Amino acid sequence: MRNPHAGEPFDTTDEEIAAALLDVSIPTLLLSLVHMSGDPEIIRGRLRPAGLFLNEVQGYMTEEDKDEARALALEVIRDYRDRGCPEPEPVSAELLQEMMTWLVCEDVPAEYVPLLMEEMELDGRDARRVEPAGDPDDRAAFPVVVIGCGQSGLLAGIRLSEAGIPFTIVEKNAGVGGTWWENSYPGARVDVGNHFYCYSFEPSDHWTEYYAQQPELQRYFQGVMDKHGIEPHVRWETEVLGAAWDDASSTWSVRTRAADGTEDVLVARAVISAVGQLNRPNLPVIEGADTFVGPSFHSARWDHDVDLAGKQVAMIGAGASGFQIAPTIAPEVGHLTVFQRTAQWMFPNPNYHATVGPGVLWALRHLPFYGRWYRFLIFWPGCDKGLEAARVDPDYPDQHRAVSETNEFTRQMFTDWILSQVADDPELAAKVVPDYPATGKRTLQDNGAWLSALMRDNVELVRTGIDHIEADAVVTVDGERYPADVLVYATGFRATEVLAPLGITGRDGVDLRTLWGERPAAYLGITVPGFPNFFMMYGPGTNLAHGGSLIFHSECQMRYITECIESLIVGGHRTMEPLQERCDDWHQRSQAEMAGLVWSQPSITSSFFKNSAGEIHILSPWRLVDYWTWTKEPDPADFVFG
Ligand code: NAP
Repeated sequence: MRNPHAGEPFDTTDEEIAAALLDVSIPTLLLSLVHMSGDPEIIRGRLRPAGLFLNEVQGYMTEEDKDEARALALEVIRDYRDRGCPEPEPVSAELLQEMMTWLVCEDVPAEYVPLLMEEMELDGRDARRVEPAGDPDDRAAFPVVVIGCGQSGLLAGIRLSEAGIPFTIVEKNAGVGGTWWENSYPGARVDVGNHFYCYSFEPSDHWTEYYAQQPELQRYFQGVMDKHGIEPHVRWETEVLGAAWDDASSTWSVRTRAADGTEDVLVARAVISAVGQLNRPNLPVIEGADTFVGPSFHSARWDHDVDLAGKQVAMIGAGASGFQIAPTIAPEVGHLTVFQRTAQWMFPNPNYHATVGPGVLWALRHLPFYGRWYRFLIFWPGCDKGLEAARVDPDYPDQHRAVSETNEFTRQMFTDWILSQVADDPELAAKVVPDYPATGKRTLQDNGAWLSALMRDNVELVRTGIDHIEADAVVTVDGERYPADVLVYATGFRATEVLAPLGITGRDGVDLRTLWGERPAAYLGITVPGFPNFFMMYGPGTNLAHGGSLIFHSECQMRYITECIESLIVGGHRTMEPLQERCDDWHQRSQAEMAGLVWSQPSITSSFFKNSAGEIHILSPWRLVDYWTWTKEPDPADFVFG
């Protein structure tokens, strides 16, 4: 069978090929030529990228060099086509490392190469898939319940299905996607490049935008679900109320309630929570909010029946969601008032709203490994570099402004980007430059849409605190009254309340969220002592603020979880749970690490990463390569088996 990443054979004309090459990433193209021709000398000459930075996919090559590369490419591609587009010969490991280093203009350390090889799947093999072993009857007797059918729950279903393990996914919504089902607000789009933000084993040659909008993302997950036959295993519109462990039978009883109120109990040998961290809206308590007479709703519960045309809209909150909503609705509404408590750091990304041109779509579909190298190209700048940049230098003066020299440099760069857009509006400029260290909260991708929306005549940014809400207005603490017909809460999620509102009861009737209090902890973010055969995806300590993507983390977690379940089945064990000391040690080390990172900076007071004590238990302070290594396979010495 042809390697799925070797591209579909084609008979495209020379003229069409030449036209397609006008669109593509030239450094990525040159690597594809190496595969097509088998000639590594293509990348050993003068034509090469000059540097790499976030969102720069042309390697800063000059127009002359790009033209020369296109002319060379036309020759190589024509020859490849005329030879019938044969599947390229495999490339040696040494050459692959050379190609990686060449593309990103820096040494790619050896410890990253196996991770990247897996991510890119150049051999066409899905190395994160766990093959079934042992007696099929033992597998059939090991039912698993997965809670949630977002990106991680769907992945869990795919991996369990491949491993021949019976499973049921219980999903509170009526369809697949989780975040990408619920967040249908105007302008909702992903801010991790889609050619990386998709499963490593599901090709990425179809995205119509570099940062797809919610409907396309939801369709992607629907398509993957259909392809892998997962839907028959899902109970839609059914909420998990809780799950209780029974020692005598070594099973979990998972209580569910369907949309019609019918309650049921599913008995499982293992439970996988895939509920995410951002699905319970945070609705602020503001005096008088219940007296507002017009429509009011949270960004994740957008009321599409409300026509905003010509209306006076008040939007409270301007984080990642509000940042996308305002530019999208501003042209339509009569007036928009944005209440922003804290300004956001943002960095330039001209591709943020860009569509993927036909030439790139052609290259992704037909040129061998073009899509795989492009995936690597956009993954690499966010692979652990953000973590190093987030490290606090304790000797750096004025930590309220910046936590290190690198952080000060970032601050300057981001500030220049912001001020360059509002040069003519000093009043707005004074409101939109954040007063805390750069990257200290979630940093946003920006193509200028946010500030140009704020500069519109029908938009006002208010930085004064809200005092109360009246029937038809929001009133700030200075007594100013802002009339409103519609109220939008873009106020984020209760992310620190991990697993809320689920009641998960482990050994001896211990309730997991009571045990945690405000300090949720799990070994590798996945398992908890006293909660046998209970596994979490996107659990505590695994959210990412420094780069990568949650899909990458989910793939790491699900391989680990599948292997845990394998070790239970094949080893004939009834239970497994992590050693208490392993979990405690992990949590302590994570906390120590987190304390030295910018997100913990005490001057950042309002951050959804922090609990009421200012501690961060939901984010990962670890390098992607470390988490990948630690989750590659479970170490039996970390567990107690029963
Ligand atoms: P968020 O980043 O937590 O932002 C919430 C906003 O509401 C902030 O501006 C916050 O102000 C404000 N707020 C909260 N409580 C308030 C109160 N009582 N009074 C006034 N303002 C209040 O939430 P989000 O925008 O929904 O985004 C959450 C996360 O979802 C993101 O970090 C990201 O991980 C994800 N997300 C991603 C995308 C994407 O991929 N493009 C899009 C949307 C969301 P303060 O800043 O002062 O707290």
